Amino acid sequence: MNEKRYAVAVDGPSGAGKSTLAKAAAQALHITYIDTGAIYRVIGVAARRRGIDPKDEAAVAALLPSLRVGLEHGADGLQRMFLNGEDVTDEIRLPEISLYASAVSAQPKVRAFLLDMQRRFARERSVIMDGRDIGTVVLPDAEVKIFLTADAAVRAQRRFLELEQRGTPRPYDEVLAELQERDRQDTQRAISPLVRAADALTVDTSALDFKQSLALLLQTIREKVGL
Ligand code: C5P
Repeated sequence: MNEKRYAVAVDGPSGAGKSTLAKAAAQALHITYIDTGAIYRVIGVAARRRGIDPKDEAAVAALLPSLRVGLEHGADGLQRMFLNGEDVTDEIRLPEISLYASAVSAQPKVRAFLLDMQRRFARERSVIMDGRDIGTVVLPDAEVKIFLTADAAVRAQRRFLELEQRGTPRPYDEVLAELQERDRQDTQRAISPLVRAADALTVDTSALDFKQSLALLLQTIREKVGL
């Protein structure tokens, strides 16, 4: 077991390989992986179920007090998400939830609602947390900050294959267009836009395979933390 408590922030656009790499790194380091996108996705699910336009800030804000967002790690180490006690781990991965999550995550009230929850996790244990503003807003004092990115076409191709493997295939052009729309929403929003923290190390995985990316990630973390 590791005595030293530390936090690793991994930010970057969708499809850069953040969750796969962060999950594998967490396993190798015996620390907890937290996927913060899943938390925003739960709010997206709630909005969709109530038939709320996810861009309608007043309607989304009115929804928040009635929501209890739960995050637990199962015996298999996988992160499970709950909405008012109901397991929504599978539902948050429906393709249409991506745009709902992106739209609600641009709203200050939603971000404020979820901020403490995210910080609490890092206080209690060593974590590797991925998202869009972990190194800049959620954990500005994280020992290690990584900005993980890749070309849009490469990211769209990865998402396309992932959807196919999950049995929910979509045309490549649609996947690319949706990814570009999410990039636009994530980088241009007024609050917590996706930006690289000044002290983050950029890892571009466009030309790296999974093993190479993971090796680089682990080496960076171990050096910085002094493991
Ligand atoms: O990472 P994932 O694609 O699951 O995230 C879903 C959406 O949640 C993203 O489009 C992004 O807008 C938002 N998000 C965010 N801040 C985070 C994590 C995700 O705004 N820390």
